[in-house]
Amino acid sequence: MATINSVLGPMDTANLGFTLPHEHLIDSSAGIRQTYGELEFRDRASDMAIQDFTKAKGGGIDTLVEVSPMDLGRDVELMREVSRESGVNFICCTGCWLDIPRSFWNRDPEFIADLWVQEIEEGIEGTGIKAGIIKIATEDPITQQQELMLRAAARTHLRTGVPITTHTPPQSRVGERQVRILTSEGVEPQHIYVGHINQTLDPDYHRELARLGVWLGWDISNPYGRPHLPPWEQRAEYLKSLLDDGLATNMMLSHDWNVVLSRVGTPGFPGREDNPDGYLWLTRAFIPKLQQLGVTEAAVEQMMVANPRRHFEGVRPQD
Ligand SMILES: [Zn+2]
Repeated sequence: MATINSVLGPMDTANLGFTLPHEHLIDSSAGIRQTYGELEFRDRASDMAIQDFTKAKGGGIDTLVEVSPMDLGRDVELMREVSRESGVNFICCTGCWLDIPRSFWNRDPEFIADLWVQEIEEGIEGTGIKAGIIKIATEDPITQQQELMLRAAARTHLRTGVPITTHTPPQSRVGERQVRILTSEGVEPQHIYVGHINQTLDPDYHRELARLGVWLGWDISNPYGRPHLPPWEQRAEYLKSLLDDGLATNMMLSHDWNVVLSRVGTPGFPGREDNPDGYLWLTRAFIPKLQQLGVTEAAVEQMMVANPRRHFEGVRPQD
């Protein structure tokens, strides 16, 4: 048991329940809300979100880890409103995705960590809403500025204890290098969640990440996925083979979904009509498919309830 930051204030990890560890409310860019609000359907974003999350709560989703930092158009006040109205707990993030602000370039990692620690300890944009996780993203190879973000994330974690979650690009084993940089700064592997591992269907990579003692984020599980991925039924079979190898110990499942698709028209990004189940697609399609393949109820409970809680509590996957 531990206390973590939700957008409604401190919450006990015992109350996390069924958790989606990598999702978005709005997936956009810094400043779009203020300048081109129509691209985020601002006039109806809150209605759409409240509707989607009320449905999600009714379908058994208790908590959502919202991993949009400021460069993905983070909107913590909208999260607070949606959380209050729907009953879904929201954990919001500090950190940075791939659109690293120029104001961060070539700074000292401690300088950036100061800003991020403030978002965890005092709150975001004067709202008093505090971040509960640190998001980080790299390409492959990791650029100099992305490495700086990793080191700043490490310093932020070491000063606050708040865990780290990463974005990795498809068909790459860059997660291992992310872990190496973070651990070289003193971060223990159980505080790291390597995201999007299902975009690289390489059992050696997945076994190696598990061996390193980090959490594995199988977090693009929507039916339409990305064009380079095999059909989801095939991905479910591959995941089953990893679980048979004991990787349920480290695994978490999520959709990487969002309410407002401001990237509509980008190849590989489905529209709302392509996934009418939204945040319930795992519960309605993917998990039943896994169970049909022989994945046990206990393994599902471990991936959806126990592992997210243990990540926030700083427990080692193997313990
Ligand atoms: Zn994402």
